[in-house]
Amino acid sequence: MHIGAIDGGGTKVLVGVVTADGRVLARRQESVPTADPAAYFARCGALLDGCAAECGLGLEALAGVGVSLPAMTDGRDRVFGSPSAGWGPFAVRPLLREALGPAAARTYIENDVNACARAEVRFAHGGRDFVWMTVSTGIGGAVVADGRLVRGARGCAGELGHLKVEHERPRPCGCGGQGCLEAQASGTAIGRLAREVGLGDVDAKCVEALARAGEPAARLVLAQAGRWLGRGLALAANLLNPGRIYIGGGVSHALDLLLPALREAFARDALPLCREVVITRTRLGYEASLLGAAAVCLDGLAAGTARQR
Ligand SMILES: [Zn+2]
Repeated sequence: MHIGAIDGGGTKVLVGVVTADGRVLARRQESVPTADPAAYFARCGALLDGCAAECGLGLEALAGVGVSLPAMTDGRDRVFGSPSAGWGPFAVRPLLREALGPAAARTYIENDVNACARAEVRFAHGGRDFVWMTVSTGIGGAVVADGRLVRGARGCAGELGHLKVEHERPRPCGCGGQGCLEAQASGTAIGRLAREVGLGDVDAKCVEALARAGEPAARLVLAQAGRWLGRGLALAANLLNPGRIYIGGGVSHALDLLLPALREAFARDALPLCREVVITRTRLGYEASLLGAAAVCLDGLAAGTARQR
């Protein structure tokens, strides 16, 4: 079975043809401007067409297509908005029909972090109760409870990035709130923190490299970010009692450097029974969201088959 997968990021698009067991047969990556959603999805469709051709297929031969988006969505037709892509609300179905032709009838959409969580279940034996957190430019989250993805009333359950973790000197967040985990400990926040302590014009990746080279200020910055992450995850753990917490996104490369302070803050704030959780980097790696798109499609196709029975 060949599945089309579109990982539509706010800065880059990764597209591939994926098998039912999660092997990526062809992939293409490109930075695609998000300003015009119609043009954006048209380009995604063209990239997928290229991948399918590489496998000797046309779009119509794909069993289905999954799309993961950096946006809040109802998982069916509506995108409610995306700060990172600069999108307001729009209906995505007509754009998918335009971009994918008949294959749009077997196309499934999902928020990107929810998609990662679905990939963790389908391709990595992720478990029945876990939290997935991506730490990159921003911070996103997803919750799987009792084997099911928790969507919430308006599709925005699991927004870990907006848990309030700093009350004394809170940073303003893009959501309009103050002291959100995303404002305090995202890759963007780590870069800003580093610049404030005199590390120069660096981003989170540089901070990681400096910390690995033994630079004390860089280590302190990561310890501070780790404490906020630990605080946020303890809030999530006390609410959900997950068995595992998976961390993805670019900043997860520095997880070993974040973990000592993260664990300390987590242990202080989490209830004793909720402390017994494995905190680990996702094994899905860079393609987590692409595999997520494939998982969303496979889940959607399976649900459709079940309905027909
Ligand atoms: Zn916020």
